[in-house]
Amino acid sequence: MKVGVLGAGQLGRMLALAGTPLGIRCAFYDGDLTAPAAHLGQNFDQRDPAALDAFLAAVDVVTYESENISIDLAEYVAARKPLYPGPGSLRISQHRLKEKTLCNELGIPTPAFRAIHSLDDLKNAATELGLPAVLKTTTMGYDGKGQAVLRSAADVDTAWAALGKQAPLILEAFVDYTRELSLLAARNAAGEAVFYPLTENWHYQGILRYSIAPAENVPAALQQTAEDYMNRLLKQLNHVGMLTVELFETRDGRLLVNEMAPRVHNSGHWTIEGAETSQFENHLRAILGKPLGSTEARQPSAMVNIIGEHGDVDAVLRQPGAHLHLYDKDERPARKLGHINLHCHHHVELHDKIRALRDWLPADAPILKA
Ligand code: AMP
Repeated sequence: MKVGVLGAGQLGRMLALAGTPLGIRCAFYDGDLTAPAAHLGQNFDQRDPAALDAFLAAVDVVTYESENISIDLAEYVAARKPLYPGPGSLRISQHRLKEKTLCNELGIPTPAFRAIHSLDDLKNAATELGLPAVLKTTTMGYDGKGQAVLRSAADVDTAWAALGKQAPLILEAFVDYTRELSLLAARNAAGEAVFYPLTENWHYQGILRYSIAPAENVPAALQQTAEDYMNRLLKQLNHVGMLTVELFETRDGRLLVNEMAPRVHNSGHWTIEGAETSQFENHLRAILGKPLGSTEARQPSAMVNIIGEHGDVDAVLRQPGAHLHLYDKDERPARKLGHINLHCHHHVELHDKIRALRDWLPADAPILKA
């Protein structure tokens, strides 16, 4: 079977790597012939007008590695080849207002929010929701881009000046969360679904820096609640493939959905060595209609992102139980260049192993202070 991937970034690269032992080949549609996945399969150059049809003719099923692809492209593809996750999942997850509205319709809690079309809307919403609040673009936001935190009334005009041109926007009540969690699930066309254990994530300047999985101190009821929310979304969207939901855990133990991604996700990279079946393999299995694999964690696991600079990666190779994953990208500030996976018998030991990677973490990472 040949899977076509729209985009040839690191997610495409790890999909191709996961497919290889199963005899699944990937082909890519991307305008950058030096992209991380470009050497791992046949590459169709997006800049060539004939490339899209050639790409579609060469593959059995199509998927994507970013929800920021155009709906027009998704619909063109879906009319010719099975596209998973389908355009419905894509349409919702690329628009923060639609995403949160759907969650609330399905009884899934989110931070309180308002749609913002004008400065007046913003002033009224800031009064209704109270400050602090977070103003976000509805589309194309990632890694904390297109966002402004409003702390005082004076910030309202500044935030509008910065983001108003991209209206409609969404204003969200600021959640004083205790931690950020994510739930990853895979569903196939037969409606079978599997759920990974909740993962704890720590972000710095909007970018994921490290994850711990399974997250600690997760009562069975919390995992169950997260799976229940996920199940409602999977069924409503008739979703096929991986779906990731990012959650805030509040002081009183509730889960609020922040956003979702219809794809494999950075917070699931630990599954490569840490779970019985990686998120990449389960995504391929799901979109090819194959049985889904066990999502059980083999051991407590962690993932540390390599951001901006590679650093002394040989030191990672020297650390027992550490697994280096590089994406073949040039260094650039804030760019995801790779990640390091860790696993060991106990969470306490895992924390020590994460601390040993302090060169790859910001100085104020909570794990370094613990
Ligand atoms: P997002 O792009 O929505 O994932 O937001 C990036 C980061 O900003 C999140 O990981 C949170 O750390 C923070 N953030 C986003 N929305 C809120 C909110 N409503 N309340 C508090 N923090 C938020």
